[in-house]
Amino acid sequence: MSKQPAPAPAPAPTEAAAAPVEEKKPEKKEKPRAPKRRIQVYKLYKVESDSLSRLRKDCPRCGKGYFMAQHGNRLTCGHCGYTTYTKKS
Ligand SMILES: [Zn+2]
Repeated sequence: MSKQPAPAPAPAPTEAAAAPVEEKKPEKKEKPRAPKRRIQVYKLYKVESDSLSRLRKDCPRCGKGYFMAQHGNRLTCGHCGYTTYTKKS
């Protein structure tokens, strides 16, 4: 058993295919963005000396704790998407 290892044929590197093609992307202009604002929960409640009142309606689908966002003509739940229209126009 004297088997000589056959010389493995080395794959010839193809210069043409391996040539690095540098693609220049058009420079992106960064838009000035307003910083992300968190929900200001204190705006949803009104605290009077001894009582607390909620200024937004609760979502009828999600239950208490899920306030409806007030828009021009509608109330929307951000959690489930429930929408009620307040004005008819
Ligand atoms: Zn909801």
